Amino acid sequence: MATTAGPRLILKRMREIMVERISPQARLDKMVEVIAVNMVAEVCSIYLSKPGGWLELFATEGLNRAAVHTTRLKMGEGIIGDVALNARPLNLSDAPQHPSFSYRPETGEDPYQSMLGVPIIRSGGTTLGVLAVQNKTHRHYGEEEVEALLTVATVLAELVVSGSLVDLAEVDIGPKHDRPWRGQGVSFCEGIAMGRAVLHEPRVKVEKLIADDVIAERDRLDLAIVDLRTSIDAMLSTDDTAIAGESREVLEAYRMFAHDRGWTNRLREAVTSGLTAEGAVERVQNDTRARMARQTDSLMRERLHDLDDLANRLLRHLMGKADTSAHEALPADTVLFARTMGPAELLDYDRTKLRALILEEGSPTSHVSIVARALDIPLIGRVEGVLDQIESGDWVIADGDTADVHMRPAHDVREAYRHKLALRAQRQAAYAAMRLVPAVTKDGERVKLLMNAGLLADLPHLEEAGAEGIGLFRTELQFMISHEMPRLKQLVDLYSAVLDGAAGRQVVFRTLDLGGDKVLPYARPLNEENPAMGWRAIRMTLDRPALLRYQIRALLKAGAGRDVDLMFPMVAEVAEFRAARKLVDRELERLARTGETPPRKVRVGSMLEVPALAFQMPALLAAADFVSIGSNDLMQFLFASDRGNPRLGGRYDLLSPPMLNFLKGIADAARARGVPVTLCGEMAGRPLEAMALIGLGFRSLSMVPASIGPVKQMLLSLNSGQLSSFMAGLQASTDHSLREQLKQFAINERVPI
Ligand code: PEP
Ligand code: MG
Repeated sequence: MATTAGPRLILKRMREIMVERISPQARLDKMVEVIAVNMVAEVCSIYLSKPGGWLELFATEGLNRAAVHTTRLKMGEGIIGDVALNARPLNLSDAPQHPSFSYRPETGEDPYQSMLGVPIIRSGGTTLGVLAVQNKTHRHYGEEEVEALLTVATVLAELVVSGSLVDLAEVDIGPKHDRPWRGQGVSFCEGIAMGRAVLHEPRVKVEKLIADDVIAERDRLDLAIVDLRTSIDAMLSTDDTAIAGESREVLEAYRMFAHDRGWTNRLREAVTSGLTAEGAVERVQNDTRARMARQTDSLMRERLHDLDDLANRLLRHLMGKADTSAHEALPADTVLFARTMGPAELLDYDRTKLRALILEEGSPTSHVSIVARALDIPLIGRVEGVLDQIESGDWVIADGDTADVHMRPAHDVREAYRHKLALRAQRQAAYAAMRLVPAVTKDGERVKLLMNAGLLADLPHLEEAGAEGIGLFRTELQFMISHEMPRLKQLVDLYSAVLDGAAGRQVVFRTLDLGGDKVLPYARPLNEENPAMGWRAIRMTLDRPALLRYQIRALLKAGAGRDVDLMFPMVAEVAEFRAARKLVDRELERLARTGETPPRKVRVGSMLEVPALAFQMPALLAAADFVSIGSNDLMQFLFASDRGNPRLGGRYDLLSPPMLNFLKGIADAARARGVPVTLCGEMAGRPLEAMALIGLGFRSLSMVPASIGPVKQMLLSLNSGQLSSFMAGLQASTDHSLREQLKQFAINERVPI
């Protein structure tokens, strides 16, 4: 009967066989012999996968030698096929009675009653074959023996893959990652990029599987487990921004598994059976991956995924490798791959080398998407199975416009994209050349083109895009990516840096627009039934004035001696605006009392994104210094159509008569009172929509920086007076949308849209 020394002896002999100058087949033959002797079995056989889903007998001790390379079973056929298909051991004291038993006369296995078969799994989870022992007696193999055979199978797998035991052309060793692969996800951030794959959490290759000193390996493993637990606990307790939202959930799962006795015991047993600490992790990990591959329940798969990630972390701890690639040498064009990622983790990378981000999970509203947008890199999320397909260093094309990920693309695909990118670059160069060209229509109407921002990382775009200023600075983003409520000093520093970066250009700070999908990692979730219409933005800050005052204080301090423009989000009635404005006055008084330098000028505006406010235009225009229309929210409330619901995505059109007429009413009223009005929703950045807005009388638009070039190009060819007359003729239309008519106008008048 095999004892724990059994597998160690087998491993030792296997190592010796490997250095003998004999053929691969002779090595295999010797190995089955050694295994049989040490396992006190009459038979030991190795079956390996062949292309086409077959399992072939490659070596045997005890069965008829003539059956070698002759006996074949389909995946799932017989006990061997069952072990391979399900990637789990079968321990049978009466094998012929098992429902899967399939009799093969040529093997001469009639006398053998008991059988223990274990899968041969390579790193990555692919089943390469089956290692089986048989005995004549009705024997039940003990747990230690199962463990021993599994350990031997782990080492065998690596030897097979290395080509030392078989000709690799003869066996199916699973995905070779040398063929093109195309994945589809969801685009969270548009754009196209090409580059080399970098894994955010790099995989480590285990070089040495067989231990020289079992005690030393056990100590190394124990130490690494303690290390791992400590690092996870530390990450969770720091409340770091990098682990907001989904990442936090994953970490919680890691913590649970890292303290799970079942997992750590399996690792220890694997070391005891003669593997190095790394080899033990790999053995247990292969098992997890094999289970993952056959798991159909998505929740269970997710947990197995967590366990697999945790094993990777443990490997990195053992090998003294960094947890992420952020501070490794990156290729000049890096396409980053991760399962999920926190915003701060992304900001940790050298942005001059970062070209795209691909996530296996994620959501468009996750904070990392916000950062990707600020960094102006395409982000494709929810690309199922992408991490199984990618190898670091692979060529990748990330098409954020179509949500496609092309890995190791064929030459023609690469060429097609090169062409696409060259065209884009040409267009970008044309936009860049127009950077300093004033945005004036053909008939001499000046249009202010501003950009939207939310992070310090956005500031360089001001110059690059030729924006006149920042029409919307979403201050909540900083709160969302912080791990705790930012302190007053931090806010003052940030707002000062923004004003410095803007170098005298206008910056309109919007006070906190929290709630809805904008949640703080450190705040208690509200669990509202209708969060978009819930306790959010100005409603929240008027109920908690201390927070708003604190933010206003920071803005006023940062603006000492310069102009400060601030506005409130989601104002639904003038009374709310007045109440909020009063807080600004109180803060200004406070500043005067403390003798600090006040801003040169403070302008207080209101967002108009709740339709009700448009019915109080005279009062609003009397109370506010400026108005900014948030068309994203305005559209959702005007049509009662959730802006984040993909089912409603194309249902109602921004260019519909109700929306356009509504906007015109606001623009006309503001112009009549001489109050500046800007539109800062997404529609301002789309050339056709922007054209329509100019036709309605808007002369100030704020958009994502990348849109400034295309919008400017459009308006330089536009006769706004002619468009206004054209649109006046459409005012009474009851069509679903005026999009086609406006497009036709642009085509006829050669306005590039
Ligand atoms: C809007 O609603 O149009 C807007 C600009 O604000 P946000 O997208 O941040 O809600
Ligand atoms: Mg809004």
